[in-house]
Amino acid sequence: MKITPLFLEPVFHRKIWGGRNLERDFGYQIPEGKIGECWAISGHPHGLSTIKNDPYAGETLDVVYGQHPELFGRPRRSEFPILTKILDANDNLSIQVHPDDFYAQQHENSLGKTECWYVLKAKPGAYLIYGHTANSRTELVKDIENSEWDKLLRKVPVQKGDFIYTPSGTIHALTSGIEVLETQQSSDVTYRLYDYDRIGQNGKKRRLDIKKSEDVITVPFVAPHLIPIVRHEEESTVNTLVGAKDSSYFTVQKLAIKTPLSERLGTRPFLVCSVIDGSGALAIGDYSYNLIKGDHFILPTSIAHWQWLGEMTLIVSWPNAGKY
Ligand code: ZN
Repeated sequence: MKITPLFLEPVFHRKIWGGRNLERDFGYQIPEGKIGECWAISGHPHGLSTIKNDPYAGETLDVVYGQHPELFGRPRRSEFPILTKILDANDNLSIQVHPDDFYAQQHENSLGKTECWYVLKAKPGAYLIYGHTANSRTELVKDIENSEWDKLLRKVPVQKGDFIYTPSGTIHALTSGIEVLETQQSSDVTYRLYDYDRIGQNGKKRRLDIKKSEDVITVPFVAPHLIPIVRHEEESTVNTLVGAKDSSYFTVQKLAIKTPLSERLGTRPFLVCSVIDGSGALAIGDYSYNLIKGDHFILPTSIAHWQWLGEMTLIVSWPNAGKY
């Protein structure tokens, strides 16, 4: 049987902070309304990816993952480990935090959520909420009770091309005018700490989870120290944004393809790939697949080596050994 990549159909979610940029920037056909999230590669029940090409056309990723472990490096876990999204923030997201695996398992019967963002677009002056200033849990709780948000929350300016790693326990929020590609653990557990006192579509404020937020926020905040590794492969570059050494759940790379780049899967179980700019092709043996900005696909275990062609930028990820 011919060995093919698995090309995936994205799923879109309406959000009060969403907009229409996913249509403009990626040419996606999106539903009416304010669309905030494109779930591009997902085995999570809240937004399952469907496979577009044969031999698994029409099947969802969770089913193929469950029935064909040989495509995914024979995993130990029952859920597809990585969730890739594109987020379009036209307004501020709620100030939030995600639990780690241990807390999420006990309270939500879910995986925890460590995530990271590659900034695709940012308006001038755009910033993130990222981390806090409290030195102790007592101080943290006091600042939250007194709504001392300006004092408590750290603001970090961002621009296109920035990479931000957000381990579970980190207070964070995207704000208006930012588009990111997000790579995260396959989890949908969010604790909302503050929502700018906004009224939702049903005329009510959205739910807050103050107690759980206070439980899981890491104190004090320590910014993760990542040392990006850049490899120049002839004229193309491979940039490791976060890796196994950073004790993350996943490795994330940025590939800038300018000249043909040959790669091997090696010890990696499989690759999750998103084309974020340009166009080109993926050559596997005698076959070639055209690629364009907005394409998302998985290279399964059975594809041992391949070549990237054209002029394009990709974000590529895979689960790290030991956490998979
Ligand atoms: Zn988040």
